[in-house]
Amino acid sequence: MILTFNIKHNRDFSIELKKAKQIAEFAVKTHTLSSKNVKHFGLKSIIANQILRKYSRNKKIKDVKSVELTIPNQGIHVDKEKQEIYIPSLKLTLPYIFRNDFEKVNQIEIDDRYAHVSVSVPDKPAIEPQTWLGVDRNTTGHVAVVANPQTGKVWKLGKKAEHIHRKYREIRRKLQKAKKHRLLKKIKNRESTVIRDLNHKVSRKIVEIAKKDSAGIKLEKLDDIRNNKKHTKQFNYGLNSWSFHQLQNFIEYKAKLEGIPVTYVEPKNTSKECSRCGSIGIREAKSFKCLNCGHVDHADANASFNTALRPPSVGGIGQLHADRDVCKGSTDTPRGATLRTTETPEPPSFSEESMSVGITKEIVAEVNEPV
Ligand SMILES: [Zn+2]
Repeated sequence: MILTFNIKHNRDFSIELKKAKQIAEFAVKTHTLSSKNVKHFGLKSIIANQILRKYSRNKKIKDVKSVELTIPNQGIHVDKEKQEIYIPSLKLTLPYIFRNDFEKVNQIEIDDRYAHVSVSVPDKPAIEPQTWLGVDRNTTGHVAVVANPQTGKVWKLGKKAEHIHRKYREIRRKLQKAKKHRLLKKIKNRESTVIRDLNHKVSRKIVEIAKKDSAGIKLEKLDDIRNNKKHTKQFNYGLNSWSFHQLQNFIEYKAKLEGIPVTYVEPKNTSKECSRCGSIGIREAKSFKCLNCGHVDHADANASFNTALRPPSVGGIGQLHADRDVCKGSTDTPRGATLRTTETPEPPSFSEESMSVGITKEIVAEVNEPV
């Protein structure tokens, strides 16, 4: 699979980035593929060529926003012993501390702060799961509640989520009232970073549990969660949909790295059905009560047991959302041109790892910053 690591480059590439943007705009206008035609902009041809390939071929792009400097594999030297990457065309040396078992560096994209290093790593063979964990997301206060029906064990993960959201909602409200828009944006980014870190911790823990229990992971189908009454209220006060998607993406790629299967189930009534007898019970705040068999449980634990016990929905095991999204989109779409939505948080500044949604099959980012 493909992983992307972000390395802070500590260089001022503003001149090169400006030239790159000019070339991209030129490419959108003329659809030229010859680097001779853009020689006068003064960017190294190995980089200019990449920009032309991205922007000249894609007829859908009308408006060029941010353009990265893209360096292809043949323009990258790797010294695995020194753990250093060298880009001759930019005279840039990048020390790295990420995993050294990658097969090759596919490409590097450079923006004003980071070098996004995309590497191929070998896939681990898929494990044959002995059981399935059920994951109930963004329930009453937690990021996720996980249950293993085989052992009866329940994990409540990411308890801080509710507190974080309350805190930031209050700050946002005040700033909005005071019309401090710049500060508001900053605070929003900060909140994204905090949530992302929490999602990383929770997804890491879920995959850890799955590995230990030799289990696969079952999640509720997300598309349906949006229309699911159970979650509407939580969306209003709590985690919003990008956070759900982010947690899902993190679980998917972390699981894939360990060969752990992830699959999806229909979310209908997971919080209403009794996980013991299947009847519709009564859910009140954090508790679930079945009038048929007398089963009493924490509401989210009951929901996660239901998720674990359900059959995979259509599409079956193995097809991940990340794969599906790629099928839908154009693989030629440059990052930052059309795929960046308001739901995607800004690039990381403090996080240990980060995720970016983009063009490559599964782009996963981890920041290569010594702490
Ligand atoms: Zn029951």
